[in-house]
Amino acid sequence: MKQLEDRIIKDGKVYPGNILKVDSFLNHQIDPILMDEIAKELSRIYKDKNITKVLTIEASGIAIAIMAAREFQVPAVFVKKQRSHNIGKEIYSSMVHSFTYDKDYPIALSKEYLSSDDTVLIVDDFLANGQAMMGLIDICKQANAKIGGISACIEKGFQDGGKRLRELGYPVHSLAIVDSIENGIIQFRK
Ligand code: 5GP
Repeated sequence: MKQLEDRIIKDGKVYPGNILKVDSFLNHQIDPILMDEIAKELSRIYKDKNITKVLTIEASGIAIAIMAAREFQVPAVFVKKQRSHNIGKEIYSSMVHSFTYDKDYPIALSKEYLSSDDTVLIVDDFLANGQAMMGLIDICKQANAKIGGISACIEKGFQDGGKRLRELGYPVHSLAIVDSIENGIIQFRK
């Protein structure tokens, strides 16, 4: 998605360890106009998949999910990053290894909000090693929900999450794929 790539070049910041900061438009401050374009692109890509829920993980995925959900006219659902006591006993749960913090954390979703009747579009801000997406896939499997699509705004193509998910046969479509970050220069996959 050209508009997203241009914005990453203009406003993204590269940090040690190949961390890309997009806090000024995606992760901290959020640009609703760009979000709207992202949502429209997701609806173009997955329009024939009969999506019934857009699923993400708190917190960075929520803005993307809600904008996409509005396009599909379906609910946005997000997994919580703890086994919260306040979402009831009936939960799906999994574990995710955090790339940014190098630790494992539990995720949970109330069984009320995902079932075998659902076809899910999974979205997130980044796809790196694929751990967050695998956790979301695990939750969908527990619910026997169908996965209609998996999309990250930014995939770090030099890490193997996207490759692994595609090899497993999931319909992954990332909106911007960064192939390399060298000396602060960001190269996108053509
Ligand atoms: P994965 O689970 O695919 O290894 O990593 C994806 C998660 O880690 C995303 O939810 C995202 O929040 C975070 N992440 C991974 N790489 C980056 C990065 O370069 N920049 C930022 N801001 N977050 C990242």
